[in-house]
Amino acid sequence: MLNQLTISELTAKLAQRDVSAREAMQSCLDRIARVDGKIHAFISHDDADALAQADAADQEISRGAKKPLLGVPIAIKDVLAVKNQPLNCASKILGKFISPYDATAIEKLKAAGAVVFGRCNMDEFAMGSSTENSAFGPTHNPWDITRIPGGSSGGSAAAVAADECIAALGTDTGGSIRQPAALCGCVGLKPTYGRISRYGLVAFASSLDQIGPFTKDVRDAATLLGVMSGHDLRDSTSVPQPVPDYARALTGDIKGLKLGLPKEYLIGGLDPEVKAAVDAAVKKYQELGAEIVEISLPHTDYAVAVYYIVATAEASANLARFDGIRYGARVDGHDPIELYSQTRGAGFGAEVKRRIILGTYVLSSGYHDAYYLQAQKVRTLIRNDFLKAFEQVDAIVTPTSPTAAFKLGEKSGDPLQMYLSDIFTISCNLAGICGISIPCGFTQNPRLPIGLQLLGKPFGEETMLNLAYAFEQATSWHKEKAAI
Ligand code: GLN
Repeated sequence: MLNQLTISELTAKLAQRDVSAREAMQSCLDRIARVDGKIHAFISHDDADALAQADAADQEISRGAKKPLLGVPIAIKDVLAVKNQPLNCASKILGKFISPYDATAIEKLKAAGAVVFGRCNMDEFAMGSSTENSAFGPTHNPWDITRIPGGSSGGSAAAVAADECIAALGTDTGGSIRQPAALCGCVGLKPTYGRISRYGLVAFASSLDQIGPFTKDVRDAATLLGVMSGHDLRDSTSVPQPVPDYARALTGDIKGLKLGLPKEYLIGGLDPEVKAAVDAAVKKYQELGAEIVEISLPHTDYAVAVYYIVATAEASANLARFDGIRYGARVDGHDPIELYSQTRGAGFGAEVKRRIILGTYVLSSGYHDAYYLQAQKVRTLIRNDFLKAFEQVDAIVTPTSPTAAFKLGEKSGDPLQMYLSDIFTISCNLAGICGISIPCGFTQNPRLPIGLQLLGKPFGEETMLNLAYAFEQATSWHKEKAAI
């Protein structure tokens, strides 16, 4: 079935004219019609627009055009601006807002020929680890619909895992690509901070946010990274580094590469089956010729605390723009203050309010130095831990998440438990380095995917991708499909 193909498989078939882009798009839409009632990966999808884009791609193909994503259906997290499509961030506060422009990453996908469609479900404003914080209702994990798909990009991960699209985009501020990719059994990549422009990404925590791909294999992740990367004058934090040909880095030869195993990552809450799968993956890397080196990241213990100060501080500033005046929903009041508070009170969900209150508190005078400033200093120590480790090793290996997918509702009443599920993913964002999650096994009963995380040097995506590719070539975990 066309919807099950990878980007490289589909583009090969399209180039040979075996199939049409319309057939590929239709096959994804048929799949959505069949399974999305159970999964709810999509908040909405505009089928007529998707098919019109596919038809345009078919015309280009018939004219002999060659573009890396020509005719490939790619689904988009509801936090990225796509011209003339709704943009809600899974919140009520944006009302019926329609995006007037394309994010740079979207512009680049379209220029590469992709069929950009759908609004993937997520935690409201990307705050969460389970996609339960969506104002549109939760997404369900395709491997077990009583369980969460991870978050905040849970809709994107579930859509790829259930073959409702060929690939998807998500965003990662503290793990929101890697953790749902792990829990849904697909590949998820968070690029180095500054690799992909954030223009047109609704900001949660601007110093941590990055856009990245969800794919069915590592080669597709390399392809999408290559298309979306590059300097952009509209995002001053995007870095003017040349964009390598990431696919060319996938040789599968990793002999002599040094892979760091942080001793701090053997934490209490690590599920024994996850540990066993990661241990087996480390063995596999040794067989493949990599050298395993024990390393230390001594400030790991502080990462979750630092993240929830920095991220909430930035969120409280970024979300000030949702005031009911400029755009989105409005609840009227007798004066502007009442209008703001009524609009924000009705428009934001509980988790978003919790973060705004926390973030405003850590920035307020009298507490700023004790919390925010201190957290920034510890953030530097965390980054230095990584830079020091990377003097010794080429990449670092860890579990992506301490457990497989948990049950819907299991942690939603306990924010601290939920925050702790980000323990392995958060420090990567604080340090600004790159990370990827790839499938590395399953729990037994129930059978749920387990993810392996590789962390790479700043702008070290090529080596990290090649390490991921070598493992993927030597295993078949990524080929398993959820029975939905
Ligand atoms: N789960 C983390 C949080 O709730 C990370 C979210 C993200 O990466 N967007 O903030």
